[in-house]
Amino acid sequence: MTQVKFSLCVYCGSRPGTDPAFAQAAAEVGHWIAKNGGQLVYGGGRGGLMGVVADATLRAGGRVVGVIPTSLVERELAHRGCTELHIVETMHERKRLMAERADAFLALPGGIGTFEELFEVWTWRQLGYHDKPIGILNCRGYYQGLLDFLNASVQHGFLNEAQQNLVVSAETALDLLPILCRSVPSHIAPPLNLI
Ligand code: AMP
Repeated sequence: MTQVKFSLCVYCGSRPGTDPAFAQAAAEVGHWIAKNGGQLVYGGGRGGLMGVVADATLRAGGRVVGVIPTSLVERELAHRGCTELHIVETMHERKRLMAERADAFLALPGGIGTFEELFEVWTWRQLGYHDKPIGILNCRGYYQGLLDFLNASVQHGFLNEAQQNLVVSAETALDLLPILCRSVPSHIAPPLNLI
């Protein structure tokens, strides 16, 4: 088996969203991961942008690691084509395994599941539990409201610029991915001890 150069954990919507540009961006991300020798780590779902990013990675010859809790498998929401599909008992186990298997994190457009995952790894990073890069794909300005709110939070003194700068954002996958994956550590990080 060829060596995997990096593992990118992608958080994204279990729905496709209303703008076809979102699915196009998810497909670009999957394709880029595979063509650059990486591996996708994600929530193991087959719907929405989750399914799109996984299918695009597989189609371009890449590996896909899905991590999904039993409850979602029972509802037949798992992507059965994953190279590795890990079925775990709880959401906590799932997020822990996803984070352990990742060298970097990327949030694509999504809903509350995506927001929660993004904010969790960001919080862990500011606390020094890991030092992995985190990115937000502001596709078609989807995250502009959030980025503006974060600026307001800095102005109001609840967030400092160093914390804010732990996350990088860009409007296109091709601008963001090389920044995120360039700074990927070459070593495999030790398991997180978080929960
Ligand atoms: P959301 O953004 O609310 O659609 O939630 C998507 C995020 O939460 C993904 O990154 C998944 O890890 C998790 N998630 C939520 N719903 C599902 C689902 N139906 N199948 C798999 N994962 C899901």
